[in-house]
Amino acid sequence: MIQFSARVGRTRPAATFAMAARARALRAAGHDVISLSIGEPDLPTPPHVVDAAHRAALGGQTRYPPIAGTDALRCAAARKFERDQGLPATPADVLVTNGGKQAIFDAVMSVIDPGDEVLIPAPCWAGYIQVVEFAGGIPVFIDCPAEAGFRVDAATLAAAIGPRTKLLVLNYPNNPSGAIADAAMLIGIADVLRRHPHVLTISDDIYEHLIFEGAYLTLAAAAPDLAGRVLTMSGVSKSYAMTGWRLGFCTGPRDWLAAMTLVQGTATAGVSTISQAAAVAALDGPQDLLEERRTIYRRRRDLVLGALAGAPGLTCSRPEGAFYAFPSITSLLGCRTPSGRILGNDEDVANALLDEALVATVPGSAFAMPGHIRLSTAASDALLEEACERILRFCITTC
Ligand code: PLP
Repeated sequence: MIQFSARVGRTRPAATFAMAARARALRAAGHDVISLSIGEPDLPTPPHVVDAAHRAALGGQTRYPPIAGTDALRCAAARKFERDQGLPATPADVLVTNGGKQAIFDAVMSVIDPGDEVLIPAPCWAGYIQVVEFAGGIPVFIDCPAEAGFRVDAATLAAAIGPRTKLLVLNYPNNPSGAIADAAMLIGIADVLRRHPHVLTISDDIYEHLIFEGAYLTLAAAAPDLAGRVLTMSGVSKSYAMTGWRLGFCTGPRDWLAAMTLVQGTATAGVSTISQAAAVAALDGPQDLLEERRTIYRRRRDLVLGALAGAPGLTCSRPEGAFYAFPSITSLLGCRTPSGRILGNDEDVANALLDEALVATVPGSAFAMPGHIRLSTAASDALLEEACERILRFCITTC
């Protein structure tokens, strides 16, 4: 029998993918499942982006790239960080990664030793928990309940910081809650961080263009004096519907980027040259598609909020960004489903919704906030309408 490493032993698969796999299996068995489990745009990658990739492949851009990214993409990303995020950057301040996920992996692996604590406002994307545990770090959750708009309270953050705290991970717009960062929250966080110079921050801004109300703001722009210990990451997956191209980028202090490049060069010989050429076209090409797509996602958010408003047992706050709804399901707990199951927790609710209503969602416990379920609203209006109708029927017959 193979003796696997302790690292593998403490790593769990992401619950989002587990639910998506269950949904696929049910569908393969002939069930008409609607999957709202994965956060993936259903809209196509823009045609001019696909063309650029095609041209790159035909033009011979098919060799190993530099580990940190091609010059063309590092230039385009530096321009983008300045234009969209208000962060001054040169190409030397940019690292290109295999999706936003690898930027987070590189960042965590380059600073976290076993026993180090990582502060994660909850609810949070499950990927942070995974990589922190992989590195041997300890996730310390900062409770950001719905009543607080899912935002970080500065006093709660300050109370969570200790001598082993190494890193804080921010993610706004937030997956799964859809909360966005406002100036008051970022100023409060910055004040706390100034008192604790040993704490680094990753700002995961992958949903930066998906804001429906309010304006985008990021920590390194709100508090430029902290830029020397803030890594800001984004990518093309969500904004340009390019999840399969696996392309992310980040900017931050050069010594942190150099360490991350070392981690990345240990794991991979760089990022696909074809995807990098495509990303240049996405970042340098017409940007009006971002507004068009934002309008579509806003409409879908409103559709889901409206359709679920009358669902007994669900309480859904209003996501200001990203493409998820994150209703509380606590009023369903203790209830009996049409097939006779008693719902004990959010996992029971997600499982019953899948088995009995044929809608795949993800339990909030996967995002360190039990008592909720997450639905992706990145699906067609017709699918969302049908899914909400099924959920409504399930709630009515369960409550
Ligand atoms: N960060 C957050 C908050 C996400 O929701 C996701 C994907 O779901 C990622 C990072 C990963 O992005 P990518 O697909 O570019 O690796």
